[in-house]
Amino acid sequence: MKSSTFSYKSQLSIFSSLLALQLLLTNPNLCMAAGSASGSAAAVKAEDRKTDTHIQVKGQALTIFKEYLQLDTSNPPGNEKLGADYLAKVLKENGIEASVFETAPGRACVYARLKGTGKRKGVVLLNHIDVVPAHAPDWKFPPFSGTEQDGEIWGRGAIDMKGMGIIELMSMIAIKRSGKLLDRDLVFLGTPDEEVGGAHGAAWFVKNKGELIKDCEYLINEGFIIDAYSDGKAKYWGVDVAEKNILWLGLTAKGLAGHASMPQDNSANNRMVRALARLADNPPPFTLLPEVKHFYESIAHTEPAQLGTLYRNIEKSTSADKATASKLKEDKLKSSMLANTVSLTVMKAGYKTNVIPAESYCELDCRLLPGVDHQAFIKQIREILQDDSIEVSVIQWEKAEPSPFESAFVKAVKKVNALESKDGKTPVVPVIVPWFTDSHWFREVGLKAYGFAPVEIDAEHLATMHGKDERLPISSFNKGIDRLTLILQELAQLD
Ligand SMILES: [Zn+2]
Repeated sequence: MKSSTFSYKSQLSIFSSLLALQLLLTNPNLCMAAGSASGSAAAVKAEDRKTDTHIQVKGQALTIFKEYLQLDTSNPPGNEKLGADYLAKVLKENGIEASVFETAPGRACVYARLKGTGKRKGVVLLNHIDVVPAHAPDWKFPPFSGTEQDGEIWGRGAIDMKGMGIIELMSMIAIKRSGKLLDRDLVFLGTPDEEVGGAHGAAWFVKNKGELIKDCEYLINEGFIIDAYSDGKAKYWGVDVAEKNILWLGLTAKGLAGHASMPQDNSANNRMVRALARLADNPPPFTLLPEVKHFYESIAHTEPAQLGTLYRNIEKSTSADKATASKLKEDKLKSSMLANTVSLTVMKAGYKTNVIPAESYCELDCRLLPGVDHQAFIKQIREILQDDSIEVSVIQWEKAEPSPFESAFVKAVKKVNALESKDGKTPVVPVIVPWFTDSHWFREVGLKAYGFAPVEIDAEHLATMHGKDERLPISSFNKGIDRLTLILQELAQLD
């Protein structure tokens, strides 16, 4: 459907699919009639059919989520084969063929395809199996316990991103059980090694098994979420359409070594410190991209009055005084979309208090907005350093291609959003994220990739990601399955 207006017919089709899904999720007998589930805890057991103890789709999803969290896939070392085998087992028990590809000892991808009519190109549901390590003594519950407490599921990976992985898995299973073929194939792809760059995961898959997804058009991955107020209510649905480009630089100043009792004004350290002070005092200016303008203007109503006014008039705000700039920068995540950024991270020099070192070295983590030429940016850095004797070297440059906000995927998200946000106060907005995910590997080979977990997460829960006490509310998890299923059904019908 080309029009973005929400016709009566399309409303009817969404509501009937919603109704069908609702029935499917609340009536296990219907699930059994429509589907082919059999097997263990992951699927409805054959003997349960005769009793009233059916495990419903969502009940199953929760069990699967907990069991998946109990597998320790901390990276390093990863051991993601544990997770890949588990996911393959669940898929097979639900009648979907799955393959596990070993990428390194103990590490593996899981791949499965739910065939559709083939009328439109396929959709990849991407998720990573590995998690960042957890320091157990800091946690309220053991990080690999999958504990359920007060309506939340606790565990390393609950948000990043085993929760989303199971939402993708269960959405695919729900569609399989509906018995209705979609006009797009669905590909489930779980990968290892995301947390340290993806060499044994997404990069390996694209290089060695890329032909398996070459007929696909879209990819859905982690990246952003439904941002929520502290009471869990949605503020806006943020779809990650791009990641900032990564530019890591090394700075080296060289000078004469000497006895520290006789100071050298021009020592390597002194020159480096002066240059870095200029850099810290002159951060890159704001650059307002059209998507970012759209983001700020659309979410202005979710902020307190004063900040809301700044957001509503973001074009004016980004060219106002220093106080306004500081106010905007208080929200580090949102303001990262407003500029290229430079963070001084590594500093190395000297080995003894009474020796002036001959070399001073530091590293900068720069994150560039889409479309910025990195050579031009390095030139700007040199100009700010004002010291040609300092060598600037490129440690890493990762160009990240953006995906368009105007697309069938975003249209599908907007349609499902409209079912919940009838007053338009919970808009779907484009987000450029400052971090990187595995999406870039697939954007590089031409897929339109979007980072969007359709779950409400507030600031408190978001802070547990990579931190302690990571957990996801069950209500968000369940709604995530409903929403993603509907989004995939809608996407299958849109060009
Ligand atoms: Zn992640």
